[in-house]
Amino acid sequence: MAKYEIATIDGDGIGPEVCQSAITVLKEACGSGLLAFTGHDGGADHYVKSGHVLPDDTYAACKAADAILHGAAGMPGVTYPDGTEVGNDLHLRLRFRLDLYANVRPIRLYQGVDSPLKHFKPGQIDYVIVRENTEGLYASRGGGIVLRDEVATDTIVVTRKGIERVARFSFELARQRKGAPRDGKRRVTVCDKANILRTYAFFRSVCDDVAAAYPDVDIDYAYADAITVHMLKRPDFYDVIVAENMFGDIISDLGAATIGGMGLSASAELGDTHGLFQGAHGSAPDIAGQNAASPLATILSGALMLRWLGDKHADAALTDAAQRIELAVEQVLAKGDHVPRDLGGTASCTDMTQAVCRALSR
Ligand code: ATP
Ligand code: MG
Repeated sequence: MAKYEIATIDGDGIGPEVCQSAITVLKEACGSGLLAFTGHDGGADHYVKSGHVLPDDTYAACKAADAILHGAAGMPGVTYPDGTEVGNDLHLRLRFRLDLYANVRPIRLYQGVDSPLKHFKPGQIDYVIVRENTEGLYASRGGGIVLRDEVATDTIVVTRKGIERVARFSFELARQRKGAPRDGKRRVTVCDKANILRTYAFFRSVCDDVAAAYPDVDIDYAYADAITVHMLKRPDFYDVIVAENMFGDIISDLGAATIGGMGLSASAELGDTHGLFQGAHGSAPDIAGQNAASPLATILSGALMLRWLGDKHADAALTDAAQRIELAVEQVLAKGDHVPRDLGGTASCTDMTQAVCRALSR
């Protein structure tokens, strides 16, 4: 019997292609006996067929599994009877029900990638965005009000408990990060708008309270507007950035653009017990079913899954496999024989999968 159960959900659009690609690579890296993958239904297409976006048995399997690997969910035009879009509800429901409060998005520039910031050396852009995932402005989703077709409101809610846990997560992550610290000390940057809104001032002050327990880590602050400039001008300054839900969403897409785009942007959504791993991109319906998607974001998310499991269970075999996958991706990109289409190349999803598997076996 395998040691770790991985629940997988292909989802919609390019979800099945990229999810199956990551499974192939994970199997190649881990061999037999370590991971067992079981596929489950869910998403917008499944809603059309069955009336369920997150079937009970899928939820139960995700809850019971050691980790969840997800392709992507969402199909434009698929709506609930009240007319609202199903979108990536599968993912959102899992996020809330499994309390995945920290969304971790590494921003790492790989050699050979045609990024707008390619004048930086790969090691210079290497930081992590931690997006608070369960509250903030997006917690208002579905709860906003439109008054007489004239005025609309949404409510931003942050709680001490919610901020504390994501701040603590970020400081712990900073402590664990490998590689040379910036200016000799690890750093957490709090991204907010404390000068304008009470909620963000509170977010900052609770982060300050948490920081007191981490004298070995510097705390730094950036307004959400200013950080978009800094991320382009001096990305080498950053180590860990913690942000409220919506700001985290926005700056992580910007961060992804600086390293070559969404096709390279891995993501882990973590709680105290559960972890869900998928690329930071959506289901990209425009290129679905064409074998044109880049699987690299999902493959790298699979590596994050192995790292997280490896730390949790003190299992070096997993950490080692994670490192080998990251190295294999690095080698494929540096070599430049196989370049995915979103990075200007012609390699298909399967070409990229095979190239990473070949690099792994070397
Ligand atoms: P979401 O609302 O879930 O964030 P989105 O509307 O932001 O989704 P994405 O699906 O993330 O949209 O992607 C935007 C575009 O980027 C896609 O339409 C597609 O062309 C491109 N894209 C996204 N992911 C990939 C990928 N893995 N490989 C290649 N191109 C991609
Ligand atoms: Mg998006």
